Amino acid sequence: MPNSMDNSPGKLFVISGPSGSGKSTLTTMAVKQTGACLSISATTRGQSDSEIDGKDYFFITREQFESKISSTGFLEYAEVFGNYYGTPAAPVKKMLAEGKTVVLEIDVQGAMQVFENFPQAHGILILPPDDQELRRRLEARGRDKQEIIEQRLQKAKWEIDKAQQSNLYKNIIVNDKLEDALAEIVSILSYTNQC
Ligand code: 5GP
Repeated sequence: MPNSMDNSPGKLFVISGPSGSGKSTLTTMAVKQTGACLSISATTRGQSDSEIDGKDYFFITREQFESKISSTGFLEYAEVFGNYYGTPAAPVKKMLAEGKTVVLEIDVQGAMQVFENFPQAHGILILPPDDQELRRRLEARGRDKQEIIEQRLQKAKWEIDKAQQSNLYKNIIVNDKLEDALAEIVSILSYTNQC
């Protein structure tokens, strides 16, 4: 990522956390309340019925994704559960240059790339209250088979350890009560410019 972003007047936030932490719900609500800009990621994973292309994600092929990697079109990217996910660089750079507050909701592998290239990025890590509650939430969503739930739990453990050891997340928020976690995120985002 070019260092020109370091001098941008905007503010970049990175929100990470394992699936089941409530990260997506909290990010969507916090962005809505604060008026910050949410970056739309590209992914090679399949689109579900409830998702809209260009709003939830840009759903693209592996070939398209790999060609964008080659042309350094991503701020960061990672392979998660066998699919690519990445943050398109151009829109984020534009919004930051315009002085806007931009939020990336990305996994810990991708976040590490952002922190390395853009040390001013402000990291927020969302955690579940404990392992049992994480398992309960993943099972309650009814979205995944047991095998996938076990994979998600393993990745969650890896992500939490890696994120905590890195010391790169300025805020660690335990999502025990949604309203409390939301209020904390909103207060962190609110002192910056809107989208
Ligand atoms: P899902 O398929 O459930 O929407 O997302 C799976 C995981 O990919 C989540 O942890 C989500 O935060 C992460 N993710 C979504 N977009 C990006 C991205 O642009 N970059 C990276 N590194 N991870 C992403």
